[in-house]
Amino acid sequence: MELPRWSQARRARLKYPCTESMDSLMEALDMAKCPKDGTEVARPTKEWNVAPKSKKGPKLHIKLYTCPKCGHKWREAAKV
Ligand SMILES: [Zn+2]
Repeated sequence: MELPRWSQARRARLKYPCTESMDSLMEALDMAKCPKDGTEVARPTKEWNVAPKSKKGPKLHIKLYTCPKCGHKWREAAKV
């Protein structure tokens, strides 16, 4: 039986053929690592967009992750 993560990764590779490393694949899959114990979290608990006040400049996409192992919460922001 195939791990769902690997079929997910393979799908992501088809979608993003330029991504070589597992890190960039994980990024493409919305995966994040707990900064405390390194647990991989597949999906953000919450995500939302933040528009800049000036209406200039890039929007930010915020993702909130919760570690299932230790309960640590952290955010990651990316420019949209
Ligand atoms: Zn953790």
